[in-house]
Amino acid sequence: MRDFDQPINIVGAGLAGALLAVMLVRHGCGALRMWDRRPDPRRTRTERGRSINLALAARGIRALEHAGLMQHVRPLLIPMRGRMVHERSGTTSLQPYGQRANELIYSVSRASLNHVLIEAAARHPQVTLRFDQTCLGVDLPANLLRLRNEVSGAHYTVDLRPTLATDGAGSAVRNSLWSAGQLTVREDWLDHDYKELTIAPLNGRPALEPNALHIWPRGGFMLIALPNTDQSFTATLFLARSGAHSFESLSDSQAVADFFAAEFPDVAPLIPNLMAEFRAHPAGQLGTIHTLPWHVSSQVLLLGDAAHAIVPFHGQGMNAAFEDCLLLDSLIDEFDDWEALFTQFERLRRPNTTAIAQMALENYTEMRDTVLDPGFVRRKGLALELERRFPERFIPRYAMVMFHPEIPYAEALRRGAVQQEILLELDRAPQTDWALAERLINERLPTLAPA
Ligand SMILES: Cc1cc2nc3c(=O)[nH]c(=O)nc-3n(C[C@H](O)[C@H](O)[C@H](O)COP(=O)(O)OP(=O)(O)OC[C@H]3O[C@@H](n4cnc5c(N)ncnc54)[C@H](O)[C@@H]3O)c2cc1C
Repeated sequence: MRDFDQPINIVGAGLAGALLAVMLVRHGCGALRMWDRRPDPRRTRTERGRSINLALAARGIRALEHAGLMQHVRPLLIPMRGRMVHERSGTTSLQPYGQRANELIYSVSRASLNHVLIEAAARHPQVTLRFDQTCLGVDLPANLLRLRNEVSGAHYTVDLRPTLATDGAGSAVRNSLWSAGQLTVREDWLDHDYKELTIAPLNGRPALEPNALHIWPRGGFMLIALPNTDQSFTATLFLARSGAHSFESLSDSQAVADFFAAEFPDVAPLIPNLMAEFRAHPAGQLGTIHTLPWHVSSQVLLLGDAAHAIVPFHGQGMNAAFEDCLLLDSLIDEFDDWEALFTQFERLRRPNTTAIAQMALENYTEMRDTVLDPGFVRRKGLALELERRFPERFIPRYAMVMFHPEIPYAEALRRGAVQQEILLELDRAPQTDWALAERLINERLPTLAPA
């Protein structure tokens, strides 16, 4: 019998940890202890310097709905209908994300969303939230979780089993399991970093179209901006760490000013504190983390970024972490013991997180480069037309990932590759051969199960 009587530890009250807590409580677990190294975000100012806002899409929304939280989250959301592409010349064009009214993604403040989730978890008397408590790792033989109180400096331990580790990309739990030889970890870091800047409101109004995700693609690098509810935008510069155009080359104010004037002349005047922010905000690292396995017997399971952090170019890291929580929750009733539950969770989930990790990397090239390519734009239009004509078989890959949570990531990756072949084949002729399109689609793409 799975033991819901003993306390469950959740390490990390971030996005996945807080949502998981709500789901577990709704499932009837007994006591739940949550540990986070940050001060209580309900009492302190927002931490700056790491992605301030995020794109929430259908997979994340489905998980939040399952936990009964969407009514609290909805007021935080700003719909984004598509990518607003800003060329160097200043020309802009909106590339819609989908073609149905509900095919939108949403900008949401990380801090506000985390706040809502933490408050939802805290409403349940079974949940004990302990902030300012840094997990230092696990001691498997002694079955202990090691912690440090950041206020008193005291080190202490609590019973380990079971611990759900949602302590993010730098997971201390993962690192200690790795040090103990319990799992292998591969960290693939990009040679591009990111830095966040603020596009201020203009006369109290948004300086850019508010219902879009803005992109300034420049080949080897790009700037993006997502809207905030206070009419500002958070812009993120993705740029090589070293080389000709790089963070390293932007070492003084003049270099930063020249770079922005040359590459982003339309947006530079909209960032009033460009120099100060550029100097003050840290450049964050981006990478993919591959961990094998994600669990150790019935003692520990890693979820979210702790297990499988990905690069942010598909806007799916949080969405995938929320999907992890949903899957674990949906499996709980099938298993009597934690180990069997963890094993099945990992078996079902790994192919999908591997697939989204790959698609997220591929999307970087698309966002910073290919969105301006006429062939890409033509095939994107063709893909939308094929979706209109054959909606049960052909759904553009981006739409499968963002708007179709019923299609697992791995399936989106597989079908997406077949669809790409079909698009390239059809794109060879000057006029689309619709009879050929129908034949290829019927031959190669089985009908999708109804949503
Ligand atoms: C620039 C950028 C942009 C992004 N944009 C998007 C996007 O648009 N859409 C999207 O879906 N995803 C996006 N992501 C990814 C998203 O941020 C992550 O996938 C998501 O935060 C993962 O949630 P998590 O709960 O696993 O980890 P986190 O949200 O990182 O939470 C980890 C928690 O653990 C705590 N913690 C860490 N270490 C310890 C410790 N030793 N002891 C105790 N507590 C600890 C932290 O304080 C934190 O509260 C982006 C990421 C970046 C870097």
